[in-house]
Amino acid sequence: MSQTNKTRGPWFHRFLIGLFTVLLTLLIVWLIGFVLDDIDTIQGPQYPDIERNYLSPALLHDSAAAGDQLAELGRKLQDQRNRQSLLRDGTSRYETTMRQLVELQRLNVEKGIASDEASQKALAESVTFFLANQKADQALSETITKLTEESGALEAKRRDIEQKLDAERGPAHEEFERLEQHHGRKLAWFKLAFLLPLLAIVAVLFLKRRNSGFAPIIYATGIAVLWQTIMVIHQHFPTRHFKYIAVGALIAAVVWMLVALLRMLRAPKRDWLLRQYREAYERFLCPTCEYPIHRGPRKDLFWTRKTVKKLIVPTLAEGAKDEAYTCPACGSHLFEECNGCHAIRHSMLPYCEKCGMETVLVEPGAS
Ligand SMILES: [Zn+2]
Ligand SMILES: [Zn+2]
Repeated sequence: MSQTNKTRGPWFHRFLIGLFTVLLTLLIVWLIGFVLDDIDTIQGPQYPDIERNYLSPALLHDSAAAGDQLAELGRKLQDQRNRQSLLRDGTSRYETTMRQLVELQRLNVEKGIASDEASQKALAESVTFFLANQKADQALSETITKLTEESGALEAKRRDIEQKLDAERGPAHEEFERLEQHHGRKLAWFKLAFLLPLLAIVAVLFLKRRNSGFAPIIYATGIAVLWQTIMVIHQHFPTRHFKYIAVGALIAAVVWMLVALLRMLRAPKRDWLLRQYREAYERFLCPTCEYPIHRGPRKDLFWTRKTVKKLIVPTLAEGAKDEAYTCPACGSHLFEECNGCHAIRHSMLPYCEKCGMETVLVEPGAS
């Protein structure tokens, strides 16, 4: 049956199929990744909520109050320092004026000129202002010192409160970690609830259709889903457990392959093929490509595996001759002349229905 559609195609075509299979695998991995990322956005436990349950409200209130007071004190201190700085600017200006006036008077005395009344007065005023500023400066310094002391005491008080709070935070942290772990496991189960049914579907497709023309799509999907499942298990379950799961899955796969091989030994391929051919002839479909066998009264009808039972077949015309038949879709010989009795017989069934002569069952792909 070398004329069936079992051609492998030119190498470039095969290369493209390989390339697109890899591409499809990557795209499916990507797509599943998006879904898994979305699952990851489900919100877990919030630490502040837990802290609220574990920390005493009185201490939290005191801590907040101390914080507020400290901020207020800080603002006051800054205010006083600003005022002091402005005051000192003024003081240094008076000081300069004073020095200049004193210098002028000294020069006047040297030259024997009497100082005028205006400069005397200005000097007196400068001295007054300078002294007043000095006094104000001192008062500000005292206030600043007081505020700094207050702030220090408050800081110590707050440290004390924080220490007490820290002692209470220990259990809160433990509880948070416990809830986080629980949440992680929940997410893992969500992900597996999404992945495992997919994996089951792919496994069924693999078992039933891996020899069909669409095998690369099944392989691509299967590898992608399997990969993401392994990653989820690896990410969410401790490696110690993961080891057992991975080895268990491998053992299952190897056993499955062994069983399949042993079964093939026990039930030869011929029986399997014969069953497939028989079922196809029963439905008037080509055993190789499932194209309807348009023969005899069924010449002008069309049907599929599903609709064949509902078909109304006209009666065979009187005197119609039985003829050899080749599938127009794939070229498989379906009915041919028997070598024994020269009547028309099924090409792909082992015995002639007229004379009972046995022929070797042909397998697709065998030439
Ligand atoms: Zn065919
Ligand atoms: Zn025969």
